[in-house]
Amino acid sequence: MHAVISGGGIAGLATATALAGLGWRVTVVEVAPAPRRGGYMIDFFGPGWEAAERLGVLAALRRRGRVYAAARYVDAGGRTTGRLPLAALAPVAGGRYFSILRPEIEEALREALPPAVEVRHGRTVVAVEQRADPGAPVAVTLDDGAVVTGDLLVAADGLHSGVRRLVVGGEASLLRPLGFRTAAFICTHPDLAARLGDEVLLTDVVGGQVGIFAVDRERVSVFVVCPGGTPLPDDPRRAVVDELRRHGPWAAAVADRVPDAPWQDVVAQAVVPRWVHGRVLLAGDAAHAVSLLAGQGASLAIAGGVSLADHVAAHDDLDTALDEHERAWRAVVEPVQRSGRRAAGAFVPRHRRDLWVRRTVLHAARLPAVSRGLGSRLIGAATH
Ligand SMILES: Cc1cc2nc3c(=O)[nH]c(=O)nc-3n(C[C@H](O)[C@H](O)[C@H](O)COP(=O)(O)OP(=O)(O)OC[C@H]3O[C@@H](n4cnc5c(N)ncnc54)[C@H](O)[C@@H]3O)c2cc1C
Repeated sequence: MHAVISGGGIAGLATATALAGLGWRVTVVEVAPAPRRGGYMIDFFGPGWEAAERLGVLAALRRRGRVYAAARYVDAGGRTTGRLPLAALAPVAGGRYFSILRPEIEEALREALPPAVEVRHGRTVVAVEQRADPGAPVAVTLDDGAVVTGDLLVAADGLHSGVRRLVVGGEASLLRPLGFRTAAFICTHPDLAARLGDEVLLTDVVGGQVGIFAVDRERVSVFVVCPGGTPLPDDPRRAVVDELRRHGPWAAAVADRVPDAPWQDVVAQAVVPRWVHGRVLLAGDAAHAVSLLAGQGASLAIAGGVSLADHVAAHDDLDTALDEHERAWRAVVEPVQRSGRRAAGAFVPRHRRDLWVRRTVLHAARLPAVSRGLGSRLIGAATH
């Protein structure tokens, strides 16, 4: 059997490894000319943990991961307004919790790819052809004119999936914006990395959120979330610099290190009525992006690949396997999407009184019992 996978991100690479484990040959078509180095820090927990273990990549992920001691909130004057002991989150997740950069997850998955997986970088899918008869293979045309025939085409090409556009239609009705846009970049700033140490810095101001993580002794990872949607700013660097300066001295410290074209996107979920279209399957963010407000998108991207392979292994008939995977996997991701939508209202303080409420909660979180409860709410909300 042969699978063609559009997208060599977390979902694409995990699905490739899972299918290769069943003896499939896999061709991954990735638009980026080389592995992407940019990204943001991800909290890794949830169903991806066990899936990563089964794919044999958990140890490689943990080696690259880190556990931060606390999230420290600072106001626009640079003063500390509260601390959330992140160490309290790990026990709630049964110790199965760490932070890792998105490109580090991809690197670990890439290193573990079995020989049956071929990755074609710098290529994209331009046409998909399926005959009407059930079980007919799918013909995938790439932008270099090559036609690759597969028993299955997996669209793992992210929130703005090109294959989804070709097979299902435009994204306007398939994406649910949550009222924010986001940007992220990694930059070198040894002094700031040393000052942050093992604490994550989160700004505590009205109308936005900036997060800064020390990646190692040299680099910091920065994300910005602010209210808004499409169209995205024409000059993302300018928009990010302006937002950072609004968040006080800690955020302003990285304003002169914003790259020319920081990654930016709208914060949205993919809500697609059907993931299986003949022999085309939507996977990862292309099928069910949960958004950064829910967390777990990366975890679900890995676990979804394993779920697919489990259903393929369990059924003689591929079409039944795809339907059963969709049925079972929706039951896992839809509650996470709901929790993300619930979080949207409270993610960014809109008024000064919202800051006050958060600070009161953070103040109480100094008590171990309260911080454990808060951890349960944060991780529990993301898992139920
Ligand atoms: C700021 C931020 C913070 C986040 N925090 C967390 C977190 O704490 N925990 C968590 O679990 N998740 C988090 N997420 C979500 C997580 O990053 C995603 O859910 C996850 O990366 C989805 O993986 P994916 O492989 O489905 O999609 P992507 O990571 O988007 O990968 C898609 C791949 O397809 C490629 N591609 C795109 N278009 C084409 C095309 N036309 N042809 C070929 N290839 C194409 C891309 O180059 C890319 O390699 C966060 C997301 C953001 C934005």
